[in-house]
Amino acid sequence: MNKIFFKSAKINEFRLWGLVFTLVGMGVMIIGTGGIVWWGHAGKIFAAIFMVLGMISLLISCVVYFWAGMMSTSATMLECPECHRPTKMLGKTDRCMYCKTMLTLDPAQATHEPSVE
Ligand SMILES: [Zn+2]
Repeated sequence: MNKIFFKSAKINEFRLWGLVFTLVGMGVMIIGTGGIVWWGHAGKIFAAIFMVLGMISLLISCVVYFWAGMMSTSATMLECPECHRPTKMLGKTDRCMYCKTMLTLDPAQATHEPSVE
């Protein structure tokens, strides 16, 4: 993957998606439970379907969080040349977690050489 698809640091992006899936999962489960209150007996099937969907979404969020954790262990720690804060980058190209500056380990893609390695 040479091109940057993400607007922020990849680790932050994964955490964001993990949070989105958690909220969607919980929201869907709450709506499903609400189905029993609003439609009584008929709402139980509705609630069951929504519970399953909510569980799937929560499961995905767990996978995303786990994946982000796995990737952050292999991430490169470095000091950002722009804001001088320690950041993590995934792969050869990523953005700073704080100022979102594009960072690269590939000299061919770098626009200028950093003064401090
Ligand atoms: Zn920075």
